[in-house]
Amino acid sequence: LDSVVIVGAGHGGVQVAISLRQEGFGGRIVLVNDEPGLPYQRPPLSKAYLLGKINATAMLFRPETFYVDQRIELVHDRVAAIDRQNRRVMLDSGSALDFGHLVLATGAHNRPLNVPGSTLGGIFGIKTKADADFLSPLVKQARNVVVIGAGFIGLEFAAVAAAEGAAVEVLELGDRPMARAVSPQMSELFRAAHQGWGVKFNFRTGLAELEGEDGKVSAVTTSDGRRLPAELVVYGIGVIPNVQLALEAGLDIDNGIRVNSSLLTSDPHISALGDVAAFPCVQNGENLTRLESVQNAVDQGKLIAARLVGKPAPYTALPWFWTDQGNLKLQIAGLSIGADNYVTLGDAAAQQLSVLCFRGDELIAVESCNRPGDHVFARKILARPPALTPAAAAAPDFDLKAWEA
Ligand code: FAD
Repeated sequence: LDSVVIVGAGHGGVQVAISLRQEGFGGRIVLVNDEPGLPYQRPPLSKAYLLGKINATAMLFRPETFYVDQRIELVHDRVAAIDRQNRRVMLDSGSALDFGHLVLATGAHNRPLNVPGSTLGGIFGIKTKADADFLSPLVKQARNVVVIGAGFIGLEFAAVAAAEGAAVEVLELGDRPMARAVSPQMSELFRAAHQGWGVKFNFRTGLAELEGEDGKVSAVTTSDGRRLPAELVVYGIGVIPNVQLALEAGLDIDNGIRVNSSLLTSDPHISALGDVAAFPCVQNGENLTRLESVQNAVDQGKLIAARLVGKPAPYTALPWFWTDQGNLKLQIAGLSIGADNYVTLGDAAAQQLSVLCFRGDELIAVESCNRPGDHVFARKILARPPALTPAAAAAPDFDLKAWEA
């Protein structure tokens, strides 16, 4: 193999490039980046960066000299098409790049709002640094903020807006915060904390319409007919994988670019990873799964790089995730899909709680709020059998650290 072209310079794409060099790959590495500037990390966009706690330089994966020293060619362009027959990609600028192996790390875009008024000014999703740079001064001025969707990004933003002094209303179709991702017990802790910061939740409530004045949003009408004033609306209602390139190239698509356990697409010269890839997930019964997390993009990047230098392995890494909201740091190890039995450790009132999520007798995930030690041991326990049972976890004075040892 003499050359690897990587499409997308987010968490997954950059990791493939870095790991290839670490693994001793000596050939050409080209990283095609369609965003301005050097590649950066996304999580701070809805948290520390928006609050002004860290600057743009602190978000970069690596300084410019790193790419030069490592001979990683950063190309500012967009891949417009893949010519599989000739193993070549065509760029928006009109030039082309030949590849020995192609890596698709194109990520996902925000699911757009589709109600009347969605194109008014003052309405944002948060995906890129450009989004956060637009939003940052507005959130400091806004008095009335409406957040659509009580998922991770919506709630991270709600916490920021409340900290900046805005009146914040959250609309959510479900009946609790982060319902698709966390246990009822953890949702309850976050609901109480947000309400303590002044955030108002509207559960089982959709968005009917956005009203504007002079081209800018001024109010939100809810599905139950209420009108909430809003100078700023932020939505986080899920993402759609960026599969267009792969689709047009005839690769298999199934809620993302379909890959096998080695993260190869239906073309053996093309890999895919991160938010855009649907892979057979060991922790989800080998079902095709798309995960949107830094851990997933990074671990998959390492796996692809190792395979390309002749060290293939199936992808089995344990999923983990975090979110920061106000003074709460939630860390999740494992996947809680299908959990039907929960054991809690700690004290929800003190905002220090771990929820052990079981499916039957099998421990499948551990959610830890402000208990980082539990998260560390949970990752070790979940990464290997034998599994902890609900009965053992429910014993008085049970401690994850002692059990792991
Ligand atoms: P991305 O990082 O999205 O990178 C994809 C890149 O490909 C983008 O730059 C895109 O513009 C580019 N691209 C697409 N098409 C083309 C093309 N044709 N040519 C060239 N380039 C192209 N995860 C966590 O684990 N914890 C968190 O706290 C957390 N917070 C988040 C907060 C925000 C605001 C966001 C948006 C995400 C957050 N995530 C978090 C999720 C995490 O950032 C993603 O899972 C991760 O970035 C996925 O990496 P990726 O490489 O698959 O895609």
